[in-house]
Amino acid sequence: MADCIFCKIASGEIPSTMVYEDDTVAAFKDLEPQAPTHVLIIPKKHVVSAADLGKDDRELAAHIFCDVVPKLAKELGLSKGFRVVTNAGEEGGQTVMHLHFHLLGGRSMQWPPG
Ligand code: 5GP
Ligand code: ZN
Repeated sequence: MADCIFCKIASGEIPSTMVYEDDTVAAFKDLEPQAPTHVLIIPKKHVVSAADLGKDDRELAAHIFCDVVPKLAKELGLSKGFRVVTNAGEEGGQTVMHLHFHLLGGRSMQWPPG
């Protein structure tokens, strides 16, 4: 999608520190890390938020959670634990309107997140 920063990162138009990439998913380091490890996992296709996932996205969502998250957690050394979070919409705190999952680790996470 034109003018979407994460579409541009997925296509390589905007540079990022990519840590994982395949046909449908990309993962790259967050520009303003909130933890020692802070990676954003995105679908390459433009989906606005978790509210916009549908039946056609089952394979994509399963791929992210069943393949990419555990693989990255292992590769990034998050054996003590990690957090995966997605912000959706205004009250959810979403600032970039392209679905992304924050993978955070390397420190103790507090709950509730605030
Ligand atoms: P949200 O608030 O939408 O859940 O998260 C958006 C995240 O994207 C933030 O953590 C922010 O630091 C990150 N971010 C925004 N612009 C860029 C960018 O151009 N490159 C990278 N790598 N991260 C970005
Ligand atoms: Zn996009």
